Amino acid sequence: MTQKIFDSHAHYDDEAFNNDREDVLDGLLNDKVCGIINCGVDIKTSVFSLKLAKKYDKIYCACGFHPHEATNADDNAIKELKELLKEPKAIAVGEIGLDYHYDFSPREVQIKVFEQQLQVANKLDLPVIVHDRESHEDVLRLLKQYKPKGVVHCFSGSVEMAKEVVKLGMYIGIGGAVTFKNAKKPVQVAQAVPIDRLLLETDAPYMSPVPLRGKRCTSDYIYYTAEKIAALREIAVDDLLSQNIKNIKTLFNI
Ligand SMILES: [Zn+2]
Repeated sequence: MTQKIFDSHAHYDDEAFNNDREDVLDGLLNDKVCGIINCGVDIKTSVFSLKLAKKYDKIYCACGFHPHEATNADDNAIKELKELLKEPKAIAVGEIGLDYHYDFSPREVQIKVFEQQLQVANKLDLPVIVHDRESHEDVLRLLKQYKPKGVVHCFSGSVEMAKEVVKLGMYIGIGGAVTFKNAKKPVQVAQAVPIDRLLLETDAPYMSPVPLRGKRCTSDYIYYTAEKIAALREIAVDDLLSQNIKNIKTLFNI
């Protein structure tokens, strides 16, 4: 492998990295990894993500309220979020969206906060990083309504939905799930998405690809995901990795 890795979605603020965060990031960024987008899930983690982005040249951050945290996103919090997003290294609103699997926040609150943040993104002309778990219909409806730039991360929908998302001008994020033995839809989507609309991601520390499934995930593990997708598409891994960098730079304007 000569081509470096750009991870479009990670959470290095997570407590899983509390004991060795600097060592891990220094190790990655001095070796195989040329870029990371760290995503906040509320104000505290967005502030932390921004701190990381300011400390490391190659780290960028997304700030936003994850659907799990939607009940905490009152008007003041949204105002605070807007302030964070004025920082040059805050390059996206995320991660935001809907999660009807866990339903940690009531659905009507999730939808309201998602809509508020879609409006913020459009107003600031920033892309969004969207989380969609078992909420495909509502997510697609709102994306069609607000037409933001952005990516649906850890895409779990059908090929048909992926095509609709691409038609809206958005990108599809694919991570470790495509390597799992029982993966059907992610495999079909990884084959069907136009190569210039596909983003590679980890969701570190979660979603480690096979053969490291279950371990703490770091951005260099993207190689296994890329290897699988490249094999499915019958292209070279290096070509996929370099296309991924191009796609991330285009979408996030970096
Ligand atoms: Zn995430």
